[in-house]
Amino acid sequence: MSDPKSGNGGNTGNVGTAALACPDHGGPAAKAIEVDHIVKKYRDFTAVDGICFSVADGEIFGLLGPNGAGKSTLIRMMTTLIPITAGHARISGHDVAREPDKVRRVIGVIPQALTSDLDLTVEENLNIYAKLYDVPGHERKQAIDELLQIVDLTKWRGAQTKALSGGMRRRLEIARGLVHSPTIFFLDEPTTGLDPVSRVAVWEMLTNIRSHRQLTILLTTHYMDEADRLCDRIAIVDHGRLVALDTPVALKSSVPGSTVIEVQFENSPADWEQRLHGLGEVTSVQSEGAAMYRVLTSEGTRTTTELVEMSVRSGVRIRSLTVQNTTLDDVFVHYTGRQLRDELVKPLGFVMPPRPGMQP
Ligand code: ADP
Repeated sequence: MSDPKSGNGGNTGNVGTAALACPDHGGPAAKAIEVDHIVKKYRDFTAVDGICFSVADGEIFGLLGPNGAGKSTLIRMMTTLIPITAGHARISGHDVAREPDKVRRVIGVIPQALTSDLDLTVEENLNIYAKLYDVPGHERKQAIDELLQIVDLTKWRGAQTKALSGGMRRRLEIARGLVHSPTIFFLDEPTTGLDPVSRVAVWEMLTNIRSHRQLTILLTTHYMDEADRLCDRIAIVDHGRLVALDTPVALKSSVPGSTVIEVQFENSPADWEQRLHGLGEVTSVQSEGAAMYRVLTSEGTRTTTELVEMSVRSGVRIRSLTVQNTTLDDVFVHYTGRQLRDELVKPLGFVMPPRPGMQP
């Protein structure tokens, strides 16, 4: 692999323009979230190290990173749960440190852990939350009806929550987080633990919600396909720093080599990896074990042709070969030097912020 950090310039991310020294904070688009050189220290340990980014109104923004990267700490600071050590965060124009109550009124937060009450019905869970947030009585029923419809749980409104599947419960929690009509929605790994069908249902629901309401969404995820499918822009965080920030398309094209050839041979001679590296336009070769290689190239057709010719000439038989465009997995490896799937033992989620007027 080429040096994954090559070309990276410190804590503000150098892909795209949004993160570099907060250049777009003064731009014309309205900003739902502005994070400005934010730092979090736990004693001597710096968990978040001077990160800058901003999220435009209506955007779906993804925070992607390995465990311990600082994603939850970032969200906890933005949602008023923990104090900021240095720097600033503004949510809908409100300074998080100076105006935490105003921030709490405009945000909805969906923690990773499912927290709805199992012994209450779907509707009761929503109702209690609406009351907690002082949603006036006459608005409550209408808001709940509308949300149940959006999350496709109308016919389950009278069912006890314990009767719901994991995916349905997640949808209930999302509805609950929207019951006070927040304009900015924070979701921590919204589909972790769900089966593939439920994951797609949650994605569709989030897209649907965004098209019905003026809502900005910031989510953390470790699923590349989720980030790719849902997010307008993605920030990759590693060791408390922003290492890349841009649209999924721009991130993918920022990785040298636009095509990935995954090839497995019957056997591979000792110098095979080096010889693969020597093929035309190859930018990196990753050995995956069992004579399997992942070859990144900027000229898929040429490299594939040369690879097949070299194999035939050398008497090395190809067992399988696929050619595909660069994925966000390649982006992640490029910027962090690690595979995201190696990093997924997640020890903790985060809790709900206190309701307005309460101390964190
Ligand atoms: P992520 O959400 O990306 O997995 P976190 O924000 O949870 O990462 O953690 C970032 C780093 O800060 C980790 O090294 C974690 O151990 C550390 N950390 C998180 N919370 C605390 C705490 N309360 N005290 C000390 N260290 C913490």
